Amino acid sequence: MIIDDQHYDIIIVGTGAGGGTLAYKLAATSKKILILERGDVMPLEQQNRANFDIFKKELYHAPENWYDSAGEPFSPQTNYAVGGNTKIYAAALLRMREKDFETVKHQEGMSPEWCIKYKDFEPYYTEAEQLYMVHGQNGNDPTEPPHSAEYPYPAVEHEPEIKTVVEAIAQQGLHPETLPLTLTLQEDDPTGDSEVFGIAPLLNSPNITLKTSAKVLCLHTNSSGNIVKAVEVEIGGQSYLFFADIIVLACGAINSAALLLRSANEKHPNGLANGYNQVGRNLMKHQMTSVVQPSPKPNSGKFLRSISVNDFYWGNQDFPYPMGHIENTGGILQDITFAESPPILSVLAKGMPGFGIEQLAKRSVGWWAYTEVLPDPNNRVEVKGNKLTLHYTPNNAEAHDRLVYTWIEVLKTVDQALGNSVLAKAKGNVYPRGEAPMEVVANQCGTCRFGANPKTSVLDINCRTHDIDNLYVVDSSFFPSCSSTPPALTVIANALRIGEHLKQRLS
Ligand SMILES: Cc1cc2nc3c(=O)[nH]c(=O)nc-3n(C[C@H](O)[C@H](O)[C@H](O)COP(=O)(O)OP(=O)(O)OC[C@H]3O[C@@H](n4cnc5c(N)ncnc54)[C@H](O)[C@@H]3O)c2cc1C
Repeated sequence: MIIDDQHYDIIIVGTGAGGGTLAYKLAATSKKILILERGDVMPLEQQNRANFDIFKKELYHAPENWYDSAGEPFSPQTNYAVGGNTKIYAAALLRMREKDFETVKHQEGMSPEWCIKYKDFEPYYTEAEQLYMVHGQNGNDPTEPPHSAEYPYPAVEHEPEIKTVVEAIAQQGLHPETLPLTLTLQEDDPTGDSEVFGIAPLLNSPNITLKTSAKVLCLHTNSSGNIVKAVEVEIGGQSYLFFADIIVLACGAINSAALLLRSANEKHPNGLANGYNQVGRNLMKHQMTSVVQPSPKPNSGKFLRSISVNDFYWGNQDFPYPMGHIENTGGILQDITFAESPPILSVLAKGMPGFGIEQLAKRSVGWWAYTEVLPDPNNRVEVKGNKLTLHYTPNNAEAHDRLVYTWIEVLKTVDQALGNSVLAKAKGNVYPRGEAPMEVVANQCGTCRFGANPKTSVLDINCRTHDIDNLYVVDSSFFPSCSSTPPALTVIANALRIGEHLKQRLS
């Protein structure tokens, strides 16, 4: 074991939406900050998916197996690199709706109230949109919460063939809105992420040290167990110990929980911050179904997502419970998560023999339907030795089915309006669909939720662990409920919020 002779003010573990943004926010304090990231800088050619065959999907998977409740191994679609999952995400940065911060009644139960409200988050959402150069527009989506400032950049125009679809959706009395996207305006790396906006600007700062290929193995407390003293890290096959006053985990909801559980010691036999057996529980990941809308006119297969529809977010006249959010996939040939649902394209291939994946994808518009799941303490991360198991059963299934079927009816009417009458009249599976499988952990959250009560939450309102004074978790772990919106903007905004708190604590 090599003992590092430096002492840092803060160690941040992970450089994704949470860690990368927090590092940026704290850099100006001139405090001495060590950033530990298990991955490396991602080569530019792998980032620009427009030139890449994403159906070779193992590329965007972690080099390890996790296990399901039945003990079956799977390779998680999660990215270990500077920028974490923001290097491969779809770059859609949406705010949660105002009501998502309250108790919400779902068909299968209640999603819990957050201990802070939309109005508390709003300034940080605005700051996050500025920092990540979000391109968007407001005005058409009735569920959009109030913004204190306009988006910093105008929304991106839809592709021409997508524009006609948007018009046909609007003709049904629905409110399609342009999807807010983070964009860099750089050709070689067009989408914004926490490397570009968080880590890269800090690399020449004298107070910042970034160590890549540095996998944190566990945390060590002092003998009374009330503070973390050291962080044990594997670098180049060698173990190191690093020391700091404050430790922030930002490894993503599953890996941060696993790290706390792996750090069990005499004072914390069930893992750190786990006095009430809450760490790793209430894991949530959206129910996600992709739907393919075959299209008579070919498109490039490579363009950004651009449509957001929230007309069914809180339900409809037949179903008075939340159903969820709809986005298009963008060009299917660059949608990484879509590549996890290969059966959909094979269903299409049967109807169109002789077509390869590329030809099929170019003759299709893809859609994602997202539905909130409810926190369930039995859905959890478990660590035994080196084995990480996800016990996970999705819930709120009827709400999701309703959303998917409702959307398919919308697509039929779109096809009628566009003159694709064969599709509109066809019976059976003309809109193939597939649910995201277990290995899609893209929107994972909730394993260390925040709250006032240490018996039912792991973190306090400032994302500090209830049990250990100098230990924070600043990634998607803190969500008490997941809403139906994609999580990244909320993770980023929260990192900016906790950054304010830490600045005050350190001053
Ligand atoms: C394909 C895909 C598409 C997505 N699209 C969207 C979208 O359009 N909009 C949206 O809002 N969200 C999207 N998401 C989700 C979004 O990327 C996540 O919500 C967000 O990145 C979570 O941030 P985080 O900080 O919690 O974790 P991550 O971004 O996952 O960052 C965790 C970091 O910790 C590092 N790490 C983990 N363990 C260790 C360790 N032991 N030691 C050192 N470092 C460690 C990882 O390498 C990584 O860099 C998508 C995700 C995927 C995978």
